[in-house]
Amino acid sequence: MIEVQNLSHHFELGKKGNKTTIQVLKDISFHIKNGEIVTVVGKSGSGKSTLLNLISGFIHPTNGAIWVDEEKVTDFNEAKFADFRLKKMGFIFQSFQLIPSMTAYQNVELPLILNGESESSRKQKAMKVLEKVGLSQFGEHYPSELSGGQQQRVSIARALVLEPPLILADEPTGSLDSDTESELLQFIKQLNQELGITFLIITHDEEVASIGHRKITIHDGIVIEEAVNDNEL
Ligand code: ADP
Ligand code: MG
Repeated sequence: MIEVQNLSHHFELGKKGNKTTIQVLKDISFHIKNGEIVTVVGKSGSGKSTLLNLISGFIHPTNGAIWVDEEKVTDFNEAKFADFRLKKMGFIFQSFQLIPSMTAYQNVELPLILNGESESSRKQKAMKVLEKVGLSQFGEHYPSELSGGQQQRVSIARALVLEPPLILADEPTGSLDSDTESELLQFIKQLNQELGITFLIITHDEEVASIGHRKITIHDGIVIEEAVNDNEL
């Protein structure tokens, strides 16, 4: 599902004549198979979010190549990537990234609008997925009227609504208490088993890291360990 080959990335800071370069990722290679849950762990600042932003095409790597679902996405232009992202990737963030002025239903409907779907198709799909995350009664609620765990479920519903084969999650439990965290992790496993969705989950939390089939540890921009967990695929 994901193939990362000799990926390096640096950021340049400062103005001309006074530039500094931060080398964030250094020649990283790994792959993620279809149907796997893989976690990427590492300390804050180790380059985890940068890696996710590269895979999802929000930034372009200094060097190296990435394939997602057998397409070389590092060759894509912005427009191609936007379309690819919509169809192939769902996103879950620590801060949920819901639009506060829209109801839960409207947040979930948004990818369907972007995908050009008819109103009846949108309604049917958005309701179905809200039900899947256990929030069919909460469609008319605004994010501020929902708990953290419920908001994260809305964001998962939004990630699921176009049935992508891959979900990318950046610290998905970072804003949740430990009970809600456990529930969310169980739900991710369920989605993986029922729907076969591949998950790449970024975390600095060892408990979250242990839910995957494999765990990749990044330190100072390089992969220092790839471990197979005891969870059956
Ligand atoms: P992590 O998610 O593991 O905490 P990040 O990928 O967010 O780490 O950041 C890795 C390093 O890259 C940090 O030193 C951070 O300051 C730097 N960095 C991240 N994004 C940018 C950016 N847009 N411009 C400059 N430096 C950045
Ligand atoms: Mg991060």
